[in-house]
Amino acid sequence: MRIDVLTLFPEMLEPFCSASIVGRARKAGIVEIVCTQLRDFATDKHKSVDDKPFGGGPGMVLMCGPVFDAVEHVESLDPRPATRIVLTPQGETLTQRTVESLAKKPRLLIVCGHYEGFDQRILDGLRPMEISIGDYVLSGGEPAAAVLIDAVVRLLPGALGDRTSADSESFAGNLLEYPQYTRPREFRGMCVPDVLLSGDHGRIAGWRREQAELRTKARRPDLLEK
Ligand code: SAM
Repeated sequence: MRIDVLTLFPEMLEPFCSASIVGRARKAGIVEIVCTQLRDFATDKHKSVDDKPFGGGPGMVLMCGPVFDAVEHVESLDPRPATRIVLTPQGETLTQRTVESLAKKPRLLIVCGHYEGFDQRILDGLRPMEISIGDYVLSGGEPAAAVLIDAVVRLLPGALGDRTSADSESFAGNLLEYPQYTRPREFRGMCVPDVLLSGDHGRIAGWRREQAELRTKARRPDLLEK
């Protein structure tokens, strides 16, 4: 998979994309991540990418020209069709189902906003998926891009390695994950449930399933209704 990110702050994303599972997947050639500076597509001598909103109001709005030019340039660098994504608090809230479907695409092109957001014609003209990572407002799309990239990359074959699997994790089905324990067996009077020490894989699987259901019922009953 190739992931392009258009951003005014590539320096925020580069360290993120070079560490941990995403960084390892990149090194292993499982994913190629290319951050492109949106300002490189400004056409005036001040390198402007934003302007005041028509009709007045606070803040600055990202202009059409640099964003269209950057998207078209970046898309021309690779023949694989790119799924265009604009990050915006007004978009569809990101879920594991959306992440799973994005992880099957050959190429993603993520556009990070800043300031007051985008000229509406960017959304009308480029017709991207509009994705929000939750009902709150960030200063820019970069933390949201990091969230999206991380969630997608860990689903790519080979990204988690042989020892770990995303299959039993929260949201993989409609359940939250069961409680996990590691050594020591007892810590400050709190003990690991006996069943996990029994060596009986059938009982352990049953207990985990039951715990996942109980936990989901208590914390996220909406998931069980789906
Ligand atoms: N004026 C916009 C509004 O009220 O809808 C908010 C703009 S926000 C300050 C600047 C940028 O941060 C957005 O263009 C978007 O790229 C990003 N952003 C902010 N909150 C986000 C969220 N919840 N999910 C995804 N991106 C977000």
